[in-house]
Amino acid sequence: MDQNEVLFDRAQESIPGGVNSPVRAFRSVGGAPRFIEKALGPHMFDIEGKRYIDYIGSWGPMILGHNNPKVIEAVKHAVDNGLSFGAPTKAEVLIAEEIKKLIPTIEEVRLVSSGTEAGMSAIRLARGYTGRNKIVKFEGCYHGHSDSLLVKGGSGQLTFGTPSSAGVPEAVTNDTIVLEYNNPQMIRELFDKQGDEIACVIVEAVAGNMNMVPATQEFLNAMREETAKHGAVLIVDEVMTGFRVALGGAQSVYGIDPDITMFGKVIGGGMPVAAFGGKRDIMNCVAPLGAVYQAGTLSGNPVAVACGLATLEEIKAPDFYKRLSAQAAKLVRGLGEAAKKHGVQFSAQSMGGMFGIYFRGSCPTSFKEVMECDGERFKTFFHAMLDNGVYLAPSIYEAGFVSITHDDSVIARTLEAADKAFAEVKR
Ligand code: PLP
Repeated sequence: MDQNEVLFDRAQESIPGGVNSPVRAFRSVGGAPRFIEKALGPHMFDIEGKRYIDYIGSWGPMILGHNNPKVIEAVKHAVDNGLSFGAPTKAEVLIAEEIKKLIPTIEEVRLVSSGTEAGMSAIRLARGYTGRNKIVKFEGCYHGHSDSLLVKGGSGQLTFGTPSSAGVPEAVTNDTIVLEYNNPQMIRELFDKQGDEIACVIVEAVAGNMNMVPATQEFLNAMREETAKHGAVLIVDEVMTGFRVALGGAQSVYGIDPDITMFGKVIGGGMPVAAFGGKRDIMNCVAPLGAVYQAGTLSGNPVAVACGLATLEEIKAPDFYKRLSAQAAKLVRGLGEAAKKHGVQFSAQSMGGMFGIYFRGSCPTSFKEVMECDGERFKTFFHAMLDNGVYLAPSIYEAGFVSITHDDSVIARTLEAADKAFAEVKR
């Protein structure tokens, strides 16, 4: 038994399933997860000292690669000044101003500590602002694990076959309406019938929790038009896509103008920072100005904010997204060619530093098509890649991420591994 297996056995004695977040477990692909000791640039090292090329990037935040020296320096400097004050700091003002500069639809922004909190707070705010209860989400989208959003979700919920969670009373989800992703007709029909009862629509503009499925322009336009027409709030969840698919997020790619946007992951650069922000009249409903209560002991934590600020500083470098997108595009093109060489049904696509790989002939455009991907082939591919030093997300329902440190040699090594892995899939 290697050290990862030994530690995983031990972990399961003290931690449910041996992990502190379900998707880290390898349950759908089998085997023991790797216990990571350290990471640098595009690589992670497990407790056996084995090196992996990392395409999880902490599930999105590590866009600069691991241990970026400028970010680490900023964090160390913040630590020297104290860990938490529970009083305002200048850094919080700076990061709010920075977010506003980068995302023009944001007039005010409130920091929280996780994407889940951002989603939960955004929903409460939309309900408080509109005085309505019904919320609309889409099948396969994940917005964190708050009760009213845990209905037909993506990510681990799909991986483990629990699209709606136990422990959530029906009364809490009665007002959650679930529609099909990329089906604009369904949105129009719902709003025709019930538009005046709907508080908000919440959407991942590029879905990344049922693998990667970009929205169609028509789908996003339909929800923007209908919410505006009926006085409902449009919440775009950019926890994954924000500062990831483009500097201005998915909303800049699609030219969509949300009322509220959620952020997380990259905005904290690997530390617990997330946020929700948007139109001033809506944001002013939040306490202490308004009646919608929302708070957090560690919200805007100085060390976490220093990490986020330093990360945002780096991603503003000229051509950052051009370079990042080029590497992701090289990766998916190379994987496609390797699959073709071995006659494996496979497709792949990328947007900015985010990508999807699918064991299916063409890239899926709906939840139903995602469900057609071949999980058994993925399993073989996943383990062959891992054995050859490439760490992919251990599920067919997760997107992948490249960092700016995934240079040509890293992509080339990945493709060498993929050549062997596809050969095994074919066997
Ligand atoms: N929203 C989206 C789109 C996400 O991908 C995630 C996490 O993966 C969340 C919300 C929840 O964020 P967190 O895990 O920080 O609570």
